[in-house]
Amino acid sequence: MSSAELLGHRELVEGLLRAARAGRLAHALLFHGPEGVGKFLAAHTLAAGLLCERGPAFACGSCGACRQLAAGSHADLFVIDAQTEGEDAILVERVRAGGDSAQGASLGDFLALRAREGGWRVVLLRDAHRMNASSQNALLKTLEEPGERVLLVLETSRIDRLLPTTISRCVRVAFGTLELEDVRTVLRRKGVDLAAAEPLARWAQGAPGRALSHARENAGRQLELAWSVLRGEIGRAQALEELLELPGEFHGETPAALLRSRARSFLDLALGLLLDAERAAAGVDPVQLAHGAGAAELARLPAASRERRLAELRSARQDVERNLAGEGLLERGLLALRGPRRDRSAQR
Ligand SMILES: [Zn+2]
Repeated sequence: MSSAELLGHRELVEGLLRAARAGRLAHALLFHGPEGVGKFLAAHTLAAGLLCERGPAFACGSCGACRQLAAGSHADLFVIDAQTEGEDAILVERVRAGGDSAQGASLGDFLALRAREGGWRVVLLRDAHRMNASSQNALLKTLEEPGERVLLVLETSRIDRLLPTTISRCVRVAFGTLELEDVRTVLRRKGVDLAAAEPLARWAQGAPGRALSHARENAGRQLELAWSVLRGEIGRAQALEELLELPGEFHGETPAALLRSRARSFLDLALGLLLDAERAAAGVDPVQLAHGAGAAELARLPAASRERRLAELRSARQDVERNLAGEGLLERGLLALRGPRRDRSAQR
């Protein structure tokens, strides 16, 4: 993985590699910040830089260690990535030694092994908030004393779900969002075509990962449907029918999880729209807003009506995390967008 991919966070990782060269890198780091800004990519870049035979420095990409890493077969890197593995939770069996987990090898077993040739061993824990309390408790001792030349990086966009005891044993590294131009660059590199890239970059609000999910999830069409319902051009039933069948890459292990993933995507987009309307109503120049002229149009609705829609969308979005049925959540989202009958004349 080349460090050139690391838009926006290059200096931060460079600083950590410098600390490693000076022998003062903390052994447990907590990368936290908004979803989709590149925290895990930064963690992986740091790991590659430690494991590279010419490191600690940005990985050379050509030594034996770098080639093994690129092939996904480096013995001194251990990754738990529940999201990609399609698991909702990181169970305790995955953390403690002798765990015998159906999900794969355990972190404890990995750390019990010796490093090849006395180099670094690195553990990356993506979405660390997916660890339940027992998993986090099983990790405490390791976080305190991981051993010589061992680095643990916990990555999360939900630091509020980690136990204080977990957080206090790590050095916190905060990540922010990226500049719009950097988000555009990421989309270009990922092959998103130019016409589609511009609105995607703006909707993503500094999180290129979010822009890429939007691209996969057909966000453009979803927002068109949201607008049609808002303006009363189509009925909720028609919009719901299309949202349930909308082509796009939605993820879920079961049909119910897949529907929730559709609901999450639509509610996030609708919330982005309504939040922009609040910003426009507060006097932000629409040129600065992702939903520009549309946000200005919505800002003309009575404040109470905007707030009610926002509250209903937020409540439905929270219920996605409570595992409620996706179809009902989509219906609630559409109902919130349409608003009560008496509001609608005000939009014209
Ligand atoms: Zn190398």
